[in-house]
Parts: sequence; C-alpha cells; structure tokens
Amino acid sequence: MMDDLKELYQEVILDHSKHPRNFGKLDPCSHEAHGYNPLCGDTLNVFLNLGPDNVIQEILFDGKGCAISMASASLMSEIVKGKTTAQANLLFDNFHDLVTKDDAILLEDDDLDRLVVLAGVKQFPMRVKCATLSWHALQSALNGNNDTTTE
Ligand code: ZN
Repeated sequence: MMDDLKELYQEVILDHSKHPRNFGKLDPCSHEAHGYNPLCGDTLNVFLNLGPDNVIQEILFDGKGCAISMASASLMSEIVKGKTTAQANLLFDNFHDLVTKDDAILLEDDDLDRLVVLAGVKQFPMRVKCATLSWHALQSALNGNNDTTTE
C-alpha cells in the first residue's frame, strides 16, 4: 500500500516535471522574481499579475532544474492561481511545515493535499530547498525583491 502510494507520488512528480503547467514568460507582469538554489543548481523565474484585492490572476514560471524543483513550481503555479496573496502565504507556511517537520499540524485543505506528493523530501534536507525554491521566489516577487537564493 505504501509502495503504491510512493509510486503514485513519483508519477505525479515526473508528470509535472516533464510537462510543467503554466510554463513560460509573462510579459508584461506586475511582479517577478528569480530564484536560485546553489546546492542543486535549480534556477527559475516566477512571473505574476496581481489583480484587485491582491488576487494572483496570472502566474507563469520558467527555468531549469531537477525534477523536484520543476514539479514543485508547476504545482505551486496551479495552486496559487486565483488565490489572494494572504492565502498563498498561508499555503507556503503549511507546505514548509509539511516538508520540514515530522509533527506538522496542517490545514485541512484540498490544495495542501495536492502538495503531499512532495512530503518525501523531508528525509533529504538538500531536496527541501529544491521543493521550496519556487515558493520562495513567489514570496520574493510579492515582496518586491527580484532575487532570491535558498542560502
Ligand atoms: Zn533541485
């Protein structure tokens, strides 16, 4: 059973890394940031348009990196699209707990459930940076910083 689940998770990660959703450049855009993870070499850009009431109306990303970083960015882009920045920040807090804490208390949330596929990185601290890179870049973009590294 656990092995089936693991395989399923791997399939989701591979699918998103091979066929990333919302991949490309958004030009013009209201916010953008570059993210770099020197430990792995992952590099990506997040572009978004913030609409009324701080809703993330459009989001695209591009870049290159390992399967985890690309799959995580792809999932992130799908999940935060249409959310407010406050909702996106809350999701990131919970996602960060999910991949770093054994006893994380998480929101009951369908979007968060989709991110559970990445929970396995918890066992590999270096991989946590791959999984959170796009989220850090999203936060930098929203905060008006154009560059972020995981260091
Ligand atoms: Zn990586």
